[in-house]
Parts: sequence; structure tokens; C-alpha cells
Amino acid sequence: MVRTRFAPSPTGYLHLGGLRTALYTYLYARRNGGRFILRIEDTDQVREVPGAVDKIYESLRQAGLTYDEGPDIGGEYGPYIQTQRRDLYPKYARELVKRGGAYYCFCSRERLERLREEAEKKGQVFKYDKHCLRLTPEEVEKKLAAGEPYVIRQNIPETGTASFDDALFGHVEVECATLDDNVLIKSDGLPTYNFANVIDDHLMAITHVMRGTEYLSSAPKYNLLYQAFGWEVPTYIHMPPVMREDVKRDKVTRQPILDENGKTQNVVRKLSKRYGDPSFEDLLEQGYLRDAIVNFIALLGWSPRSDQEFFSLAELEEKFDLEGLNKSPSIFDMDKLGWFNGEYIRKLSPEAFAETAAPWIARALDPAKFDFARIASLLQNRVTVMNQIPDMIAFLDTMPAFDSGLYTNKKQKCDAQVALEALKYLRGVLAGIDPWQETEIHDRVMEGVRASGFKTGQALWPLRIAISGLSSTPGGAIEIAYLLGKDETLARVDAAIQALEA
Ligand code: GLU
Repeated sequence: MVRTRFAPSPTGYLHLGGLRTALYTYLYARRNGGRFILRIEDTDQVREVPGAVDKIYESLRQAGLTYDEGPDIGGEYGPYIQTQRRDLYPKYARELVKRGGAYYCFCSRERLERLREEAEKKGQVFKYDKHCLRLTPEEVEKKLAAGEPYVIRQNIPETGTASFDDALFGHVEVECATLDDNVLIKSDGLPTYNFANVIDDHLMAITHVMRGTEYLSSAPKYNLLYQAFGWEVPTYIHMPPVMREDVKRDKVTRQPILDENGKTQNVVRKLSKRYGDPSFEDLLEQGYLRDAIVNFIALLGWSPRSDQEFFSLAELEEKFDLEGLNKSPSIFDMDKLGWFNGEYIRKLSPEAFAETAAPWIARALDPAKFDFARIASLLQNRVTVMNQIPDMIAFLDTMPAFDSGLYTNKKQKCDAQVALEALKYLRGVLAGIDPWQETEIHDRVMEGVRASGFKTGQALWPLRIAISGLSSTPGGAIEIAYLLGKDETLARVDAAIQALEA
């Protein structure tokens, strides 16, 4: 049975790279009729952000990635939070010491600092010198009995190679001499990621480990651990990062760095909150649709090898495969996401769109005063992201400042003088309309225009400007007049006439 896991550290929001890892991990389990597990990796307590664990649950739920086992829902392999498993790791570390795969290290911070400085002076990468490996078992026992602080380190062979096989990157092999005897159990008794991930993946019977390529170079070490324990190695699938095109920026101020000609330079960098890239939560808050984000993220690094571009989560669960994964980093393009989102908005039923749009409309307008369903129907073809809505409709609440220039429109054969005459005439037509219903307004205004001798554009163009103050609006003059109501429409037309006469 395929068992995959998403194993985030609670260091903040769910970034889009993390969401993609979660998505692929989820999809792989679903596609293969397996189980998807959530594990919280919180052994680095310094980096933990309060509230982050709850955010992870919420984000996965919002994304529709339901897990079969996890901290808040339980399962046979729990607990699923590493700090709640803390008692179990030292046991395995001691077992590893017995098998020669690890050893106690009592070196002081000062000694390690000195080694680090010496390495730095020589321009070398720091590697622990296996000093404590040479302690006799009796010396170790004595120190432990005396309560000396210690860590447990992995004992990496000094010669030979370590390797593993990755489903995407193939055989990866490194010289053991380049690997450090990294810490497995810290002085606070908690395991490092390097140890906990192996123990937990084994104990939780994980068959496929899917994670970012930042772990590719450490994976040979993990394989040494599996071998030392005599455990079966899971299938590894390391996924390339999600990148973004940007201009080169200062790390601290984030200001663009200019070259000697005063020009910005283009770079491709990892997606990063520090540089203002949005998280999944940010995108939802800005009014991107969940299904659009998930569809878009799925295609950042996976290709269906067909022309199909739109996938529901259910379709992805059916089609996702490792063969479609891309080995090279993918580029996150905000414009493309916007386009995707617009397409998803267009596909919604009018009712579904109206429901999604309502809170956004309410940011600009009082629901007691306006027909929200009608406004939504005018917006559905114009909006690419929901957060555009309040600005698009604010004119219904507050008339923008008068601008006589807007009345001049060559195509509509209109200028301020024509506008004034047309508005005076239309004022009379509008005043006589009852009831104030959209079809009634339409029929009466069009009748009036035909009778007046004005061309349609010469009447409707200035009317729209007069009651909206904008040359581009969702809906035309008739729809806007209907939404505003009779009193407000007449008041706005009067104000425009007055301003044009002045
Ligand atoms: N806790 C690690 C992270 O958040 C997970 C790596 C893994 O999936 O093994 O980066």
C-alpha cells in the first residue's frame, strides 16, 4: 500500500512551494489508492512560530487536501507531531550507537567553535573531526554517569561512497569524505531533522518520500542510516524548487540593485515571503479561487503531456503521475495565475459567482441599498481577481470628481456641448419612468433617444459619464441608472448639467 506524507515544519504560513509538495504528495497517494499522512516536524523549537500548526491544518483543508492520518485526526501510527514522539528517538539513536552507526559526542561549544574557525581560516568547509569517536566505552559510560551534556552524531565512514536512487534524478552518489558527522540527537534530547525524518518515515511505513531538492544532497546520509538499521529504503522523489523572475534586490532593503549603467538586472530566485511573494493564504485573501490556485500549482512542475490545461482536483487525482514531473525548476508567473483565475471565474455559475463576490461587493456598497446579484452579473466577465471588485464599483456609492474632458468622445460623436443638450433632454425622459425597472428604463430611454434625433452614442455616452464619472464601468448607462435608483440617477444628471453649464 502506497503511503506518502507531507511533513512541514511549523515555521509560518504555507508557501506555494510547500503547497505544491503537499499537493503532489496527496495526489500520488490518491492516484495509487494509498494513504496521505500529515506529520508536523517541530524538533527545531527555535524556528517554531506560534499558531503555525493550526495554520497548516487550515490551509490543507482549504486546499482540499484531506489527509488520512494526522495530529488532529489521529491514526494507527501516531502521534504525528515529532515533539510528542520525543521519547522514541533516543532509543533508536542508542541502538545505532551499538551498531556502530553513531557515537556520543561530549565536545564543548568552545571546542567546536575553535574547529570551525580553524577550518574557515584554511578556507575549508567545517567537518567534525571524530574526536569523541575515539573515546573508549568506559570513558563514555563515565561521562554519561557524571551527567555531562552530549549529542549523538552519525558515524559516517571516512572512505567510500554513499548513494541513493531517486525516482526523478536517478542514482545520486557522494564521497563519504565530503560528509559531516552531523548531529542526530541534540543536547536537549530532541532529534534533528536528519534523524527524525528517517525514524519517522520508517515507523510510519512511508513508501514514497516526496520533498524538495534541498534535501537531495543529504539523502545519501539518510540512506546510510537505513542501511545501519537494516531497514527498507523508501522510494525518493525530490522535487525542484518553484522560482520567480525578479530584478536583483538588496537582501536587506529589497531595493533593486542597479548596475554601472543604472539599470536593473534580471534574476531567477526561489519564491520567498521575504521578497514579498504571496503565500497560499495571501492568494486566498486577495480573492484568487481555491480551485484556480490548485490547478495552477499542479502545473508548476508537472505536465499531463496533453493539451488539457484545466483540471479539477478530482481529475488531478486520476491523472497525476511521476512520469509528468519536470526535473528543472519551474517559474511562478503571477500574470499567468491571474489569467487562470479569470478563466475559473468565468466558469462559475452566476449563482456561485454572486455568492463568492458578495463579500467583495459589500466592501464598497451597502447590501440594503444595492442589487448585489445584478452587480455580480455585470462583474463576472470583467474580474480576474476578486480584490479588484471594490474599486470597480466604488463609483456607485460615491460619485467621482467631475471631469468635463470625459464627455468628449470622437467615436460617439460627443463633446461637452452635445453632452449638455443630450443630458437636459434625457433628464426629462428619466424623470417620467415608472416603475424604475431595468427593462422599463431601457425601453423608455431608447424610445426617447430615437425620438430626439441624437445618435445612440451621443445620448448614452454622456449619460454614463454623468452618473458614473468614469469612461469604463461594469455595465452601461442603463444598468448603472437601474442600480443607482431613480433619485440618485436624477441627482447625478442634475449635477452634471450644472457643472457643464458653469
Ligand atoms: N520538515 C521539512 C521541511 O519543512 C520536511 C522535509 C521532508 O519532507 O522530509 O522542509
